[in-house]
Parts: sequence; C-alpha cells; structure tokens
Amino acid sequence: MKITIWGARGSIPTPSTPEFVTSRYGGNTTCVSVEAAGRLVIFDGGSGLRNFGLHLVEQGQPVSADFFFSHVHWDHIQGFPFFVPCFMKGNSFRLYGPVHERETGVVGSVLENALRGQQRSLNFPVQLADMGAKLDFREVEAGSLVKLPGTSSELQIRTAELNHPGGCFGFRVEEHRPDGVGVFVFATDTEHLDQVNPKLQGIAQGADVLLYDAQYTEDEYEGTKSFPRKGWGHSTWRHGMKEALAARVKRLLLTHHDPMHDDWYIARIESDARREGSKVGVDVDAAYEGMVIEL
Ligand SMILES: [Zn+2]
Ligand SMILES: [Zn+2]
Repeated sequence: MKITIWGARGSIPTPSTPEFVTSRYGGNTTCVSVEAAGRLVIFDGGSGLRNFGLHLVEQGQPVSADFFFSHVHWDHIQGFPFFVPCFMKGNSFRLYGPVHERETGVVGSVLENALRGQQRSLNFPVQLADMGAKLDFREVEAGSLVKLPGTSSELQIRTAELNHPGGCFGFRVEEHRPDGVGVFVFATDTEHLDQVNPKLQGIAQGADVLLYDAQYTEDEYEGTKSFPRKGWGHSTWRHGMKEALAARVKRLLLTHHDPMHDDWYIARIESDARREGSKVGVDVDAAYEGMVIEL
C-alpha cells in the first residue's frame, strides 16, 4: 500500500509567504491517495487534489478510481473543480459520499448536491455536467464495509461516524495480502471526547498508520490565551496520542494543520508530540504535502 499526502492543511489553503512560511508542511487542504491491490483510492478533494490531478495526467494513463469523501465542508471539496482527470473522457470515478441527515429539498446524494452546487454558474464557470469523465455517485452508511475487488488481493474500506458539526466519516483501509494485512486509517475532521471515541476506536484498532485531526494545541482548544475552539469539530495531538495508544496504532500522523500555524509552529508541535510518543512507543510525524508512506 502506498499512501501519498497531497494536502495536510485545515480549513483554508494557506500559501507560503516570506513572512509566514508554510512550504515545508504545505498549504493545500486535505487530499490523500492510496494505491493498493492494483487500485487507486482517493480520500477528500481539498485543494491538494489539484496537484494530484496534474500528477495523474503526467502518467498518461486512463484513470479509474474510488473517491471517498469524509464530508462536504468546503476545504474537503474545493479542489474538485480543478481536478483535471475529471475533464477527460475515458476516465471514471466512483464517488462515495456519507449519508447524513438531509436538508429539506435535497434529492439524491448529499455529495452530488454539494459538488453540483459548488459548480453552479453562480459559483464557478464550468458545470459538473461539463466534466467529461464518468462520475458514478454512491452513498455509504456509517459502520459499513465497502469491498473493492483487487487484482492480487482484496481491499476493504470500513466507515465510522466521527464527531464533527454536520457529520463526518472516518475510513479504515485494509489491504489483505498473502503476507499479511496493511491498515491505514483516515480520521479528520473530528473533535475528541472526554474519553477515547469508541467509534474511532472501532476503525483504528491495530492500524499501521492513523492520520488524525490535530488542528489545535491544548491552549488554543481551551482558549487559555485567546478564545476557545470547543465545538468547532477539531482535536489536538495529545488526544490523537490517547486514541493511538488505546487502539495500539504503530504510527500517528498529525494533520489538518491550522491556517494560523506556520512551518516553525508545526515543527514545534511535531517535536512535542514526538517526545511524548517516544515515551509510550508511538511514532509521530506531522503530515506534509508530498509525504509518501509505503506499507
Ligand atoms: Zn476540514
Ligand atoms: Zn469539516
């Protein structure tokens, strides 16, 4: 399994400037690709999706992928209108959106509505219907299992409802190979509970890698020096460590970096988290754009 991070920023793209450098961890919002069992799976279409699309076009091959969306907050769909492979006939995408409580008047999937709405002429010049690739929208329920047939093994994706305003799904990707099972867990955006989150624990058990929402420091979350961010749907690295320990996760990746955190600040968070992780046997890294992990 090859995991590539195309966007690790939370909330809004945060380009690097001379005064506020973000080039090390990257300024693009959430997008992760997973290549396993001869298939391509994409998680979230934040602004990082644009660069991933350009990378795919460079390969010069037709693209067929399973595209999972954790939720439809803007920072997780805003890259979609700039995803070049979607403009190319012959490419095909199965787009899986979570089943949430529907707004009144919404017909069809919430994901399809969000992507079509984002590209209505009021918002964007090119409509979803003008994109040439085949788009097949599907809905997934919380706690369900999606099996993707592989060429040499079987790929399984389990879903769980996380704790986030408007709802959000986490995903557990299992690649079953003759020599064992590789497990990657994608869990952003989620706010921690007082104790570990049983639904997150349900998908994170024994994971090789857990990608976890660590947008805030404890001070920011509690508002000890400014205003609190409680109820905003995000978490901290300390709580990520608790979840990782309880689920016997081997490696914790911090993501959804706050737009107010530059490289220097994220590096400080990373070194604090690594120090704590080394005491309890959890490897910790801050996710960065361009990061590749092979399982
Ligand atoms: Zn987000
Ligand atoms: Zn969100």
